[in-house]
Amino acid sequence: MTHEVVTGNEWTKPIPRPDAVSAPYWEAAARGELVVQECPECGNRQFYPRAVCTDCGANPGWLTCTGHGTVHTFTVIRQNHAKPFKDELPYVVAIVELDEGPRMMGNVTGCEPDDVGIGMPVEVYFVTADEGVAVPLWRPRGA
Ligand SMILES: [Zn+2]
Repeated sequence: MTHEVVTGNEWTKPIPRPDAVSAPYWEAAARGELVVQECPECGNRQFYPRAVCTDCGANPGWLTCTGHGTVHTFTVIRQNHAKPFKDELPYVVAIVELDEGPRMMGNVTGCEPDDVGIGMPVEVYFVTADEGVAVPLWRPRGA
């Protein structure tokens, strides 16, 4: 499932730097796809990317996700003096539980922070941060 990749805006935050293990994750994100690792031996799914399955030590494969999840928990950041984050206050940092199981941290955008709640359905989209690198963000599903 492919999701929107927003391009053309200057990215002023730290730029993720893919390594050998995480490169497939970042390459998928740049295409608008969210992937997690899935173990071909035991079926364990994991995020963030690691060199081995955390359950059995096998070499993990990749699973393309729906990009849908729910807010597992979150906080509203109201104070951050570091640029460029101070310009976005208040903003939401959430742990999103993917429909596929793993949880990942990210910003929930596209609604007022006070409208975010535990269990809220969200979907991923991406913002291009650099050549071939896009960062996943979340917004209310169906927004
Ligand atoms: Zn395994």
